[in-house]
Amino acid sequence: MPSVTATGNEVVYQIDHDNRLIGFNSEWDAFAVTNDSPHLVHGNIIGQLLWDFIQDPETHHLHQTLLQRVRQQQRPIILPFRCDSATLRRFMQMEILPLPKGTVEYRCLTQRTETREAVSLLEPNAKRSDQGQLLRMCSWCKKIAVNDDWMEVEDAIRQLQLFASATLPGISHTMCDACLHKLSMEPD
Ligand SMILES: [Zn+2]
Repeated sequence: MPSVTATGNEVVYQIDHDNRLIGFNSEWDAFAVTNDSPHLVHGNIIGQLLWDFIQDPETHHLHQTLLQRVRQQQRPIILPFRCDSATLRRFMQMEILPLPKGTVEYRCLTQRTETREAVSLLEPNAKRSDQGQLLRMCSWCKKIAVNDDWMEVEDAIRQLQLFASATLPGISHTMCDACLHKLSMEPD
């Protein structure tokens, strides 16, 4: 039985009208450190473009579309997403709020988490093969593409027999068909 914890800590950050990171709450740094990303504490990244942290073109495009909608309509959008670590499935909710002068606030709330056995594929420092195909992972729901199916990472590892391989494949981020469809169809 995975243990399920409700956590109420909301990670909040803001971007200005040029999409530069301008503000963070204290939970931001705590989250970065817990998530094996101490280099992302606010002092290191303030003033940088949001796009410096969103590399794949599909996710970039989706965020641009959402931001445009929030700024034009001056209404918040609320979306569920996943932000997993090697040992934790995090079910989160993102609220994108318009503020004056083109500033936008992101509020990311962990709604629940499920612990799991460490998935080495998701450990940031795991040794990766620099040959062979990259695995495609949806940056929104964290599913992995296996042929034409998108599945939870544990199922993908079983299916692809990654437990048996000495080095792990690299991961490239993209959006799965379901997320792309759902998020671009978000009602106005
Ligand atoms: Zn997805």
